[in-house]
Amino acid sequence: MKNYRFGTKAIHAGADPDPSTGAIMTPIYQTSTYVQEYPGKHKGYAYARGKNPTREALQKNIAALEDGKHCLCFSSGMGSMDAVIKLLRPGDEVITGDDLYGGSYRMFTKVFANYGIKFHFINMTEASNIKNYINANTKLIWVETPTNPTMQIVDIEACAAIAKAANVILAVDNTFASPYLQNPLALGADIIMHSVTKYLGGHSDVVMGALVTNNDSLYEQLAFIHNSCGATPGPMDSFLVMRGIKTLHLRMERHCFNGRKVAAYLKTHPRIEKIYWPGFEDHPNHAIAKKQMRDFGGMISIVLKDASEEQTFKIASSFQVFSLAESLGGVESLINHPATMTHASIPKAEREKAGVVDNLLRLSVGVEDIEDLLADLKQALA
Ligand SMILES: *Cc1c(COP(=O)(O)O)cnc(C)c1O
Repeated sequence: MKNYRFGTKAIHAGADPDPSTGAIMTPIYQTSTYVQEYPGKHKGYAYARGKNPTREALQKNIAALEDGKHCLCFSSGMGSMDAVIKLLRPGDEVITGDDLYGGSYRMFTKVFANYGIKFHFINMTEASNIKNYINANTKLIWVETPTNPTMQIVDIEACAAIAKAANVILAVDNTFASPYLQNPLALGADIIMHSVTKYLGGHSDVVMGALVTNNDSLYEQLAFIHNSCGATPGPMDSFLVMRGIKTLHLRMERHCFNGRKVAAYLKTHPRIEKIYWPGFEDHPNHAIAKKQMRDFGGMISIVLKDASEEQTFKIASSFQVFSLAESLGGVESLINHPATMTHASIPKAEREKAGVVDNLLRLSVGVEDIEDLLADLKQALA
C-alpha cells in the first residue's frame, strides 16, 4: 500500500478479502488455538497469543498508516510501552520529557525504577537540552509530542539527530497527533508508540496499544517480548479498531476543524487566563509544529482565570455536550481535570512545575457540530 494516500490506506491496508469466503471485512478469528495436521505442521498459526489473523490485519494497517515496516498491537498503550522499556537492562538510563502522560510517568517511576533503570525527566522544548543528559548508559530517549496536557512541541527531527549521534534508540509516543497528523519514523524515530485507545480506535470502545518500527532487529526483540510477556489484544478488539480506522482521516479532518474553532473562541474568552494549542502563532514551538505536523488537532488545554478548585470543578461539571471523562481522541467531546484525573499520579510539585495546575482543564474536541460545541462552552463558562 506504499503508493496510496492516507485515506485509501486507512480503508484498505491489511484488509484483503478473506481467503475462504471473500468476505470484505476481516473476520473475527475468535480462537485461542489452531489444529495441526501432525506436530509442527500447521498453516503458520499455532497459538493465538503468538498470532491471530484479525490482529495481523490490523498490524499491517497501522504499519501502513505510519509508512512503517512492522507493527505489533498490545492489549493497552501501557502494555506497548512496557515492552519498549523491557528492551533495557539494569543500569541503563532513559531521557524523557517533564510533561508526560501520567500513566507513563507512573510506570517509569513506580515500576521500572525498581528494576535499576534510571529516568531523567527534562524539558525537551529545546531538543539540544537532551545532550546534557546523555552518558555511556543512555539507551533510550522517550518523546511525547504534543505533550499531555500542556501541548508542548518537541522537535522529533532534532531529537533523532541527537539519538543517532549517541547510538541511542528514539521512541515517540504519537498518540496525540495520530498517524494522520505526524509520522515520526519519517522524521528519524526508531519506534512509534500509540495508545490505539484514542484517535486510532476513535469510538471510546476499545483499550489497545501499538508499536511501529522499520528496524528489523528492534522488531525481533519486541516481537519476542510481545509473545513472551503476553500483553496481546484479542480478535474482537482488533476488529473494532480496524473498523474505527476506516474513518480516521474523516474524523481527524473534523477534529482539526472543530479544534481550530474552539481554540479561536476560547483565546479571547474573559474567563480564561491561558490556552495551550500548537496552532496559535504565538505558541512557543509553533514553527516546529508546523514543520512536523500536517495540522494541529483537537486537543486544547485552558487555565481558568482566578478559579479555585471548587469553581474549576463546578465548570468542569456544567457541560452538556462535552462529557467529563478521562481519555481523548474519540468522536465524543470530552473535558478532563488532569490534576485529579489523568495526572493524579504525578506529585503536586512536579505537576505544577510542568504547568498542570489545579485550575487547568483539558478538552478533547470531538466531531459533533461546531455550533453545539461553541454553545456548550459559552453556557459552561458563563
Ligand atoms: C492514554 C495514553 C497512554 C496510555 O495508553 P492506554 O491505552 O490507556 O494504556 C499513553 N500515552 C498517551 C499520550 C496517552 O494519551
